[in-house]
Amino acid sequence: MDPFVDTLQRLREAFVSGRTRPAEFRAAQLKGLSRFLQENKQLLQEALAQDLHKATQLDSAFIRKEPFGLVLILSPWNYPLNLSLGPLVGALAAGNCVVLKPSEISKSTEKVLAEVLPRYLDQSCFAVVLGGPQETGRLLEHKFDYIFFTGNPQVGKIIMTAAAKHLTPITLELGGKNPCYVDDNCDPQTVANRVAFFRCFNAGQTCVAPDYVLCSPEMQARLVPALQSAITRFYGDDPQSSPNLGRIISQKHFQRLRGLLSFGRVVIGGQSDESDLYIAPTVLVDVQETDPVMQEEIFGPILPIVNVRSLGQAIDFINRREKPLALYAFSNNSQVVKRVLAQTSSGGFCGNDGFMHLTLASLPFGGVGSSGMGNYHGKFSFDTFSHHRACLLRPPGLEKIYAIRYPPHTPRNLRV
Ligand code: NAD
Repeated sequence: MDPFVDTLQRLREAFVSGRTRPAEFRAAQLKGLSRFLQENKQLLQEALAQDLHKATQLDSAFIRKEPFGLVLILSPWNYPLNLSLGPLVGALAAGNCVVLKPSEISKSTEKVLAEVLPRYLDQSCFAVVLGGPQETGRLLEHKFDYIFFTGNPQVGKIIMTAAAKHLTPITLELGGKNPCYVDDNCDPQTVANRVAFFRCFNAGQTCVAPDYVLCSPEMQARLVPALQSAITRFYGDDPQSSPNLGRIISQKHFQRLRGLLSFGRVVIGGQSDESDLYIAPTVLVDVQETDPVMQEEIFGPILPIVNVRSLGQAIDFINRREKPLALYAFSNNSQVVKRVLAQTSSGGFCGNDGFMHLTLASLPFGGVGSSGMGNYHGKFSFDTFSHHRACLLRPPGLEKIYAIRYPPHTPRNLRV
């Protein structure tokens, strides 16, 4: 019998119920803590004296942001320049030396980063390292002072395990399935324009792309023709010949995506061309929660629609799954958007649009749970790549005041 199961289950159920969220609840708990300290001062002093023979006192303090030292940045192929240079800006701004390991899959960008970028930076402080999983594994045997990884959650676990061997702090910018709730109360064409655009951007190979839609069967009946209209307007009758639609990065990902087209029922698109690594913008309906297309991050221009009967059911569906990197809710009723926001968790959130939240430098960008840990963008990048050193400076004099600290702690001593 595991002695922790009941307690952990009780606390998790309490968290899911939302009890800890209201400000009044939090204030009441903090007041309780404060009362605990006041009402049990004597008891606590005795306990601390028995355990540790200790008493502490702090003056004013400040935080000094210092570079960690040698930083490793590992980047993916889907935005190979942006996701290499973005973290690099933060690491350099904070004063670190950097090893950048771009993705070996986006070969042309990797080549430019390796051959040209170092000419623009001080090469005694910056290096680009090339290679795939094997070389990265070897690189990770070395000790770094900070690791910043962008990639998929499975590889994230490998990176975290390697970092743990040296107790190296990390940021993990991972992926997952981003839900997109569409309420009955909204204009289907507006929603379709926005969802189709953000789903098909970079041929769907975007970590924050809306991955699937949750809506009622009634909304689905209105949304599908609107999605068809948006896709035709954006990419024409033959999307393969459109200059505005990207291609799948590799044969491997193409095969994976083509495999996903066989789940549910294709109502828009569905065509593919291996010689061109082309997958048409595709919408699937009649999709089951257990289908592979609902298990793995799609990372392509395929949009499954899953039916729910109510907002509560949509929220339950989202909360049954891993916490996503981004979450989207569309409704003309701001209360609906607010309820989705309040009763779920995700790295970021955008009401009534796609991934616009990540374009603002004033907002931190990062995941939570299996979609990542830590964040960056704007000033958050500087903070991520800095150690926040807690400092206290004390004048050398005033010894009489501080003498109260020293043992023996007799009543006479305490009157000094
Ligand atoms: P990936 O995890 O396969 O690769 C990322 C980096 O890790 C690459 O540099 C690669 O060489 C290295 N790598 C791969 N396998 C490794 C292994 N076994 N051991 C050590 N290193 C290894 O990711 P990807 O396919 O390049 O990118 C797609 C994934 O990245 C998706 O899951 C996407 O959601 C995620 N992503 C997240 C963000 C974000 O900001 N949160 C942004 C873009 C992409």
